Amino acid sequence: LKNCRGISNVFVLSAAILALFFIAGCSAGDNLDNESEGYGMMHEMMVAQQIEARGITNSNVLAAMRKVERHLFVPEHLQHLAYGDHPLPIGEGQTISQPYIVALMTLVIEPDENMKVLEIGTGSGYQAAILAELCKSVYSVEIVEVLGKRAKSILADLYDNVFVKTGDGYQGWSEHAPFDAVIVTCSPTHVPKPLVEQLVEGGKIVIPVDENGAQELVLLVKKDGEMVRKNIIPVRFVPMVDGSGDTY
Ligand code: SAH
Repeated sequence: LKNCRGISNVFVLSAAILALFFIAGCSAGDNLDNESEGYGMMHEMMVAQQIEARGITNSNVLAAMRKVERHLFVPEHLQHLAYGDHPLPIGEGQTISQPYIVALMTLVIEPDENMKVLEIGTGSGYQAAILAELCKSVYSVEIVEVLGKRAKSILADLYDNVFVKTGDGYQGWSEHAPFDAVIVTCSPTHVPKPLVEQLVEGGKIVIPVDENGAQELVLLVKKDGEMVRKNIIPVRFVPMVDGSGDTY
């Protein structure tokens, strides 16, 4: 009898624990699926598997990647692919960058809430949104008018510290200079001079370059008015879902 009571106690205890897990599981699921369109689980997997698993541990960058909903920045027919480990087409022959690249570029400029950042190549607006979460203000320039306008309206619904304009980003945005950092999301052959001029002393530029056929991110720091190459971060090649092979 004693034994029986022991067993039934264990049973009651296990049932209670299971019930607790069930309740906790449901509410965790509810939280994750609170996200519009129910992409919460995929979003969390994106951050855990593509960003954290590759060694990005900065809690602010991870929080921003968890907060910004990437599917809001891609065309509707591709939203189900928004949390995949790849860039996606956004129209006009352009792409939204791979989530890992966005996280890496953000990490490299060491964002903080006092920084004013310039982005060249607004594209979908996703990188600008991540920066808006972490910096004081974000100025972003897009050369393709339709993309610039679309990103501007999506971002205006979400943030009041992001400013988008259409134009040639290689000229920078002198009215709002100087910037603490510049993120270049397209691939120029050289660092445009106005970007250097519009950067504070000690400011950073992160820029993707093609080196020996591989994409690399280069970090440049302004020292005595000149850009000093700080380090290179290799970028893992990930083919486009449409098979075109573009990395960005
Ligand atoms: N940051 C974007 C990635 C966009 S891809 C995102 O998060 O989605 C690069 C973008 O740079 C493209 O939209 C392209 O149109 C734009 N671009 C190319 N050359 C440019 C230039 N000279 N000035 C501004 N934007 C440019």
